[in-house]
Amino acid sequence: MPTHALRRPRASAGTSAYALGPALAPLLTAALGALLACSGDAPPDRVLLNARIWTGDSLRPSATALAIRGDRIVAIGDDATIRALAAAETRIEDLGGRRMVPGFHDAHWHLPTRRTADLVGAADEREVVRRLQEFAATLPADAWITGRGWTPDMFPRNVAHRRYLDSAFGDRPVIITDRDGHQTLSNTRALSLAAVSAETREPDGGAIVRDDDGTPTGLLQETASVLVRRHLPDPSEEEIYAALRYEMHRAAAFGLTALQIANALGEAETKAFARALTEDSLLVRFRVAVPFGKDVSDSALRRYVALRDGARGPLLRYGIAKGMLDGTVDAGTAAMLAPYAIGGGTGLPRFTDAELVEAVTRYDSAGLQVELHAIGDRAIRMSLDAFGAAAERNETRDRRHRVEHLEVPDPADIPRFARLGVIASTQAIFATPDATTLTNYAPILGPERSARAMPFRALDEAGAVQAFGSDYPVFPMDPLLGIHVAVTRELPDGTPNGGWFPANRIGVEAALRHYTRDAAYAAFRELELGVLAPGMLADLVVLSDDIVGVAPAMLLRAKPVLTVMGGRDTYRAPGPR
Ligand SMILES: [Zn+2]
Repeated sequence: MPTHALRRPRASAGTSAYALGPALAPLLTAALGALLACSGDAPPDRVLLNARIWTGDSLRPSATALAIRGDRIVAIGDDATIRALAAAETRIEDLGGRRMVPGFHDAHWHLPTRRTADLVGAADEREVVRRLQEFAATLPADAWITGRGWTPDMFPRNVAHRRYLDSAFGDRPVIITDRDGHQTLSNTRALSLAAVSAETREPDGGAIVRDDDGTPTGLLQETASVLVRRHLPDPSEEEIYAALRYEMHRAAAFGLTALQIANALGEAETKAFARALTEDSLLVRFRVAVPFGKDVSDSALRRYVALRDGARGPLLRYGIAKGMLDGTVDAGTAAMLAPYAIGGGTGLPRFTDAELVEAVTRYDSAGLQVELHAIGDRAIRMSLDAFGAAAERNETRDRRHRVEHLEVPDPADIPRFARLGVIASTQAIFATPDATTLTNYAPILGPERSARAMPFRALDEAGAVQAFGSDYPVFPMDPLLGIHVAVTRELPDGTPNGGWFPANRIGVEAALRHYTRDAAYAAFRELELGVLAPGMLADLVVLSDDIVGVAPAMLLRAKPVLTVMGGRDTYRAPGPR
């Protein structure tokens, strides 16, 4: 293979050039492409013609055709030039003038491994119970009943309470997780099986919400959910593997070619990924996190580094540690500089400033990238302070630490992302102006902070590298939905007219870059992912309708018709195209 020497530049190399940011990638890619072009005469395996290609490459922003050999793009240009490269055995496909973009890359995603009732969008507490009853009917009579996706506005006066579950489920344990995954509601049976009572002490970083007499209401926040959750039986290895296969197929159908898993995996999950790699059944590239914690041992750090160095293949990588610094706005647990407008609390930070600096510095000195869930302005500032402190204490190198979600940064902290080289890992779809946002999120935050929440444009204008994700299953993983929200801050039905705090809307091409090149940069993979150019991995998606230069409402019409990952089809829409 003449191209062999060109495979995969070492993304781990800590050269100062990377510190210049993702804009440099196309230059290096072009150099690589030039090398590739003169590296051999083997014809491409396949060529794709007659497309409208948005390449993401500033050197060649558009093209109509590209050629693929193995898992790489070997040439890109106009139809005549690319067709001329084809040999008799080259597979040629005409894309009928459709839009092609780089494969979507979700920088913050989770793998659901447990079958559970879907509570998203339930109208009220009666519908929550009805969905749980339907789901329970599919389970053995003694099984725990689980659900996910409720929001406070589904309950009377926005307060979830076990009484709404007890009437329907007196003798079966029920635990349901909210949409954001930061609080759970258990019924009385589940609380008693878990021995959670008026006497139970609050765990660190968690809250047991109580009635006036001290009895738990069933609402457990942040770390307190573990008190009940640890009694749930674990899914089997087979169930986890089946869940991985199922979710990969769904991801490919949404045009996703890379996913970054924003949580550490258990042993059974790790085995499922290893099995998929061995069986060559991965349809998506994965990057998987390891745990970030206060009391990490030297041996654990060495194990995380070994995991990173042992998985250098194109499909499955490690090298990032995920930590939770606070909760969510909807639960009133995100750590704020000033009290919430309702309730008057300031959230539940899980670290002190000193603990966080200490922990970040240790991971940083081991050469591990750190991503911190930080939603409130106080937690975001703590993260930036800790990343800055680690950079001062340890040697100079390419770190790319990340703040996850950063929903309500203090305006003074926004320029610090670019200055410190910290990645803003945001989720455009969080700005969906649905009932939860308008009747729970915004009132809790108050008008001044709501107006500057999820500041996608302000981050772009401050020069931050912004990587988009979905936080699936918290929100749907569909990147086109995320792009629609980034561009409109409206619901699909066009409300609220003009968008929810429209000053922070961004353009389609900016949103595309955040879902492709910038997500790749956040994973140290911008030299081979996120841009369609010679030498890059052949990850792309072809859409039914154009999304560039169209009216925002048209964004929701487009659906992937073909997804290619590493030169192979991972999804093809059924029926005639
Ligand atoms: Zn998450």
